[in-house]
Amino acid sequence: MDSATTQGAHELPQRITAGFEKLALALKTSVWHGASSAGLSATQAQIVALVAARGSRTGLRLADIAEELAITPATASDALRALVAKELIVKGRATGDARALAVRTTEKGSAVAARMSGLSTFLATAVGELSPAEQEALQLALVRLISRLQDEGRIPFARMCANCVYLRTHVHADDERPHHCALADTAIGARDFRFDCPEHVRADAPRIAAQRVALGIAIG
Ligand code: SF4
Repeated sequence: MDSATTQGAHELPQRITAGFEKLALALKTSVWHGASSAGLSATQAQIVALVAARGSRTGLRLADIAEELAITPATASDALRALVAKELIVKGRATGDARALAVRTTEKGSAVAARMSGLSTFLATAVGELSPAEQEALQLALVRLISRLQDEGRIPFARMCANCVYLRTHVHADDERPHHCALADTAIGARDFRFDCPEHVRADAPRIAAQRVALGIAIG
């Protein structure tokens, strides 16, 4: 292998990372404009979107919000106070634990969250222009990267199929959808994998490791 090829192999991860930075900047800018036009800070907008997506039935606790968004409980508490004052969030009791406090979106908050969810549509449209094979390869690469970064504690635990107790790997003789979601009782493939599934239940560490091996995304 010549030196230019060796150098290129080493530089490729840096170039891809620079590409991720461009995408992150586009998303951040879009969220910032959307939040600002709704009279919210970026953190407040993220909380409204998270509570609307996850807490509609059971409510979300402050500690869960802080963990999911990788912010301190104090920051989450300040943002929630502002959202309650803006009548986007209400506090109440958590379903299944009458002693615990949980928050839910109001009707007004749900409408704001629906607007927020459209802020990343531009990127989904661009991804949709990749070929199906490119999309599937990208999906699996993202599952692997996110798994690695969550193992290192750099990002919050993601509610992904790869680490869910309901995943059954390689149980169908279908190349496109060889896996199974035992909760939905349906065949799934890499193209169906979720990154933030509201029904997700965390598997234990040995099971997660085994599922990663079965999916071909083992870390290390
Ligand atoms: S419950 Fe959700 S995260 Fe779990 S396997 Fe089914 S679709 Fe995936």
